[in-house]
Amino acid sequence: MSTISDWVFGLAALFALPASAALVIVDTGHTPLHPGATGASGRVEYLYNLDLSTQVAKDLQAKGLKVFRTAADGVEIPLKDRSTAAPADFFVSIHHDSMQQQYIDAGRQREFHGYSIFVSELSPHYEESLKCARAIGEKMLANGESPSLYHAEPIKGENRPLVDARLGIHRFDDLMVLKTAKAPAVLVEAGVIVNPDEEARLAMPATISRTAQAIADGIVACKP
Ligand SMILES: [Zn+2]
Repeated sequence: MSTISDWVFGLAALFALPASAALVIVDTGHTPLHPGATGASGRVEYLYNLDLSTQVAKDLQAKGLKVFRTAADGVEIPLKDRSTAAPADFFVSIHHDSMQQQYIDAGRQREFHGYSIFVSELSPHYEESLKCARAIGEKMLANGESPSLYHAEPIKGENRPLVDARLGIHRFDDLMVLKTAKAPAVLVEAGVIVNPDEEARLAMPATISRTAQAIADGIVACKP
């Protein structure tokens, strides 16, 4: 039997999510079969991406946004299909970083740490993407994280133009998940798992929780 209060609560639940709530695709970088980088401990990047993206998705939903997840189910999905898997208002791809093999070979793993954020100028929504990248960068800084500027190093395979050194924002125009996006899109490298000290910190639930909150807060702040 339903009562007036059931009806009121039902109505409240119905209107908790406004019909106009933005939809965000939260992409878990890589897949179990092609798991990306390997951390210093041997744990693969996909698992770090899965932990962090799961928390980002929860935080966005808690803030009233709709979320569509890609690659979280472990099924192979081509890069070009990720950002177009749903009619989204925003796309964020979650990754963890490696470094050039020459640095690993030289035993320089501990020299590289920090997050970085990428945008593509080939995206039809470059300015809005950059606005959201800046918002996420501000939240990451406020959260005590520091940007890695390693991708801007003038070496083969890096050389990514720095858009904003303070916030750790780089341009990477040819990144498939960004240039194929039909909505503003950013890719976040949350930290460097090849660095054993940073890997241990990134694996901590408190770090995952704080980083996810910073990413979600940044997305909400830029109003996709
Ligand atoms: Zn990756």
